[in-house]
Amino acid sequence: MTDTPTQLFIGGAWVDAADGATMPVDDPATGEILCHVADAGPKDARLAEEAAVAAQEEWARTAPRARSEILRRAYEIILDRVDELAHLMTAEMGKPLAEARGEVAYAAEFFRWFSEEAVRIDGGGGILPDGRNRMLLSRRPVGPCLLITPWNFPLAMGTRKIGPAIAAGCTMILKPAPQTPLSSLALAAILKEAGLPDGVLNVVTTSRAGEVCEPLLRGGRMRKLSFTGSTQVGRILLAQSADAVVRTSMELGGNAPFIVFEDADLDKAVDGAMLAKMRNMGEACTAANRFFVHSSVAAEFGRRLAERMGALVVGPGTRDGVDVGPLIDRTGRAKVEELVADAVERGAEVLVGGRTPEGPGCFYPPTVLAGVDPESRLMDTEIFGPVAAILTFDDEDEVVRRANDTPWGLVGYVFTEGLDRALRVSERLEVGMVGLNTGLVSNPAAPFGGVKQSGLGREGGRVGIDEFLEYQYLAVPVR
Ligand code: ADP
Repeated sequence: MTDTPTQLFIGGAWVDAADGATMPVDDPATGEILCHVADAGPKDARLAEEAAVAAQEEWARTAPRARSEILRRAYEIILDRVDELAHLMTAEMGKPLAEARGEVAYAAEFFRWFSEEAVRIDGGGGILPDGRNRMLLSRRPVGPCLLITPWNFPLAMGTRKIGPAIAAGCTMILKPAPQTPLSSLALAAILKEAGLPDGVLNVVTTSRAGEVCEPLLRGGRMRKLSFTGSTQVGRILLAQSADAVVRTSMELGGNAPFIVFEDADLDKAVDGAMLAKMRNMGEACTAANRFFVHSSVAAEFGRRLAERMGALVVGPGTRDGVDVGPLIDRTGRAKVEELVADAVERGAEVLVGGRTPEGPGCFYPPTVLAGVDPESRLMDTEIFGPVAAILTFDDEDEVVRRANDTPWGLVGYVFTEGLDRALRVSERLEVGMVGLNTGLVSNPAAPFGGVKQSGLGREGGRVGIDEFLEYQYLAVPVR
């Protein structure tokens, strides 16, 4: 960790915050301070904005192949350094090393994918219906972008935005979450090494998110906001973006239903539940939040899930054999504790877990709750922790109605062996993504995103780059 950058990255240079401020980065496994990083304020935001704006025109003119090759080189560098980056991520975020390695590979994949997309930006055109006019369509970068990322996937949430922005020819300011700045700073160093021109990517780490981001959004020089985080903050940023009519992509919260029908293969369903619930300790917007299990199989499903959850080893992410690391911080853990206490008060049965361990670090055990009252708070709150809440249902229409009875619509999981039902139910779910007999949907080649209050736009897939491009239509008379 000694050579991990801890300063701001502005205009291709590593600099301190203008007022010299720094902020601590904590290790959630011990509660101890790992290091301090620069804590940017509004003045630094202005400098980053100037750098991004100044670099935009020339960057937009760069050959797509050149942009593609920078991404490809960065992809290769990341893969050469999987271990180093995984250790950094585990140190600041807590996830077990094996998961961190998985995320590094997943993060790199966005760069490979968008290195391939950079050279496929197409336009169009032709003779218009009147026969007297033609149109020429070209696609141009939207302009300087503000990218705001959360702490749960410190590297992948960055590459999922930076990859398409670079491919499209946009410059950018990245503002990572204050809990996990180190992965983003390491990523900036890699992109510089891969040949990214100065000013194209600027990274401002800060504990003063509002002071840094609001002027950038209201100022009108940033032309695009790509945000991943809570719906609550997303709403504030959408309002701030309205002033200067800034384009937005919003990946917000989820409240994923996980539906197990009576004809499901229970082995598949339990495997899927482990993935959908326990990936990243449950700290994912795609995490299964509400398990609806047909009453005829609920007891068996609950028993098997509790057995698997209870067998997981909880501990520091750096320790061999650990499956479940600490939660991000004390606040995150306190929220999980409150949600479980509320569900238990309303009559839920704790099949496994449910007790906060003594000692340092923000650990919380894998927990399964059965017989959860639908009025419990965790039914309409993202749990963001290793807690599976099981409810029962009897009828298909009923479960679809209950699954959709939420303002969110990111992802749903459906387990059934019946093809007709699988398609019918998936199509009726008000979500952007469905895992059909699988607990994992995320893939760089697929469009990720939600409907309703889970967000606007898609990341990844063929359409991921569209969020960073504008059409320009040229009218040319036929002479
Ligand atoms: P979480 O609750 O998971 O931390 P948030 O939505 O609070 O999710 O945070 C996601 C990202 O949004 C982080 O980078 C955070 O610093 C940033 N953020 C939070 N509040 C604001 C704000 N008012 N303006 C800009 N960014 C913000």
